[in-house]
Amino acid sequence: MDFIDKLANKVSSGTKILSQKTDEIIEMTELNIELKNIEAYIEEEKLYIGELVYKYFLSNSNNMPIAEIKGKCGEIQRLEKEKHRMKTRLNRIKGWQYCRICGEPIEDEENFCPKCGHKIK
Ligand SMILES: [Zn+2]
Repeated sequence: MDFIDKLANKVSSGTKILSQKTDEIIEMTELNIELKNIEAYIEEEKLYIGELVYKYFLSNSNNMPIAEIKGKCGEIQRLEKEKHRMKTRLNRIKGWQYCRICGEPIEDEENFCPKCGHKIK
């Protein structure tokens, strides 16, 4: 392989890494926006549940809207799982490691898992 070929190879692998980095930055931006949306939505759902309970209190009735409250709580639970999945993905892009025992994200400088104490290094 002559010098020009080597140089061309270097440039092309550099471009590949750069475009991979760009893809990651775009994905991180999208994930962050999506996370903010989910968090805002969860807050709205919680407020709605609060309104339902307060209206029930004011109405002096014995028919608490249990089915509707359970439905909303289930929705929040689903969104929390989605939020967790996105945060994990974000941390993976950032290059965080995960504890092999409990799955807790581990920052670079840590020697032990902050959750279960498993030795990392
Ligand atoms: Zn752990």
